[in-house]
Amino acid sequence: MPLQTVIWQGLWGLAAVFLAEMVRDAYHVVSHYWPPLMKLHNWHHRVYKKDFTPVSEELYRQAQLYNDVPESLVMMGLMATLALGVGLPGLWLGVLYSGGFCWRRSPAPRAGCSPLT
Ligand SMILES: [Zn+2]
Repeated sequence: MPLQTVIWQGLWGLAAVFLAEMVRDAYHVVSHYWPPLMKLHNWHHRVYKKDFTPVSEELYRQAQLYNDVPESLVMMGLMATLALGVGLPGLWLGVLYSGGFCWRRSPAPRAGCSPLT
């Protein structure tokens, strides 16, 4: 594969990560106004104290399950749709990036991945 192609796909990959973050921000905003998401999103805002330490392990896991995992799945779905629709391989980096959020945020506890451990 020519170096120029690798560089361009890498740039598209960076753009995809930026777009995935924009999707996440949009999801957050929509979650403040659309009642079905508001219920789930409230878990996210109940997790942290004013000093940004988690209130409890249980509440943190509930927030992961009800807010963070759906948010990551939406990010993955939109980024995959874009990557398939446009046909640029570099855009799949946005799907992987979003999937990483989903994996990190899965409710199954893993050593070293929780801020409480
Ligand atoms: Zn919010």
